[in-house]
Amino acid sequence: RSKAEARVDGSTGVKFSDVAGIEEAVEELQELVRYLKNPELFDKMGIKPPHGVLLEGPPGCGKTLVAKAIAGEAGVPFYQMAGSEFVEVLVGVGSARIRDLFKRAKVNKPSVIFIDEIDALATRRQGIFSESTDHLYNAATQERETTLNQLLIELDGFDTGKGVIFLGATNRMDLLDPALLRPGRFDRKIRIRPPNAKGRLDILRVHARKVKMSPSVDLSVYAQNLPGWTGAKLAQLLQEAALVAVRKGHDAILQSDVDDAVDRLTVGPKRVGVELG
Ligand code: ATP
Repeated sequence: RSKAEARVDGSTGVKFSDVAGIEEAVEELQELVRYLKNPELFDKMGIKPPHGVLLEGPPGCGKTLVAKAIAGEAGVPFYQMAGSEFVEVLVGVGSARIRDLFKRAKVNKPSVIFIDEIDALATRRQGIFSESTDHLYNAATQERETTLNQLLIELDGFDTGKGVIFLGATNRMDLLDPALLRPGRFDRKIRIRPPNAKGRLDILRVHARKVKMSPSVDLSVYAQNLPGWTGAKLAQLLQEAALVAVRKGHDAILQSDVDDAVDRLTVGPKRVGVELG
């Protein structure tokens, strides 16, 4: 399968109940689900849906997850690509991929297009490298501009009321080309913040449903004591705890297994080294 083909999920199967700790964002995004479920109603009521919605925030806090949940809740196809997949030195490849992506999403509307790491293809254009004499570098920069222009064309030509929602995600808002942030393009920005203690507990509970956890385990201690841990890290924690439990022959995850998993994820390599040695 070529890189040019956008990954298509008939349905992502992800629901808002799989997402925790970012309730404000989810609340705002509910509107997109309502729109995708019934674009004609919005049209009839004269409500213009947003052209593009930018999800912004640090890695691992649920940008991709929440984008999938929008499509999953609405029961519509999800077209996902990463910004880096459009960055090619070959002239015209990136813009062809953009065209292809939008075309396929429109054919199967209502639908969601999601471009992760959008900063990779939409970095500020004017810049310190414009004087560069490096031939290849310039070619790559030019190609990226062509790709970005194609994206802008698609967004501008995006008829409102046509049932396709375009979502982008970035953790480097500062790098984005301002052209992308103009009205009619990404006209909605939603922050996906790292979870606080309550958020961390809710995230742990969501992921605890997916593993076999002894009812005696108190997850709140981890939520309290692991500041800075993202949703991705907390999900990994419970996966790791399940592995520890299996290795120890437990038939459900015990508190001590989660404690071990915390140690492993905190000082990982050292511990593994000791065990291997
Ligand atoms: P990146 O910028 O690295 O793509 P992201 O913000 O898109 O990060 P995700 O890929 O959505 O992060 O998160 C990775 C995984 O971590 C998710 O599939 C999920 O298992 C878990 N996770 C992250 N955030 C949350 C959350 N808010 N609620 C529940 N699970 C989460």
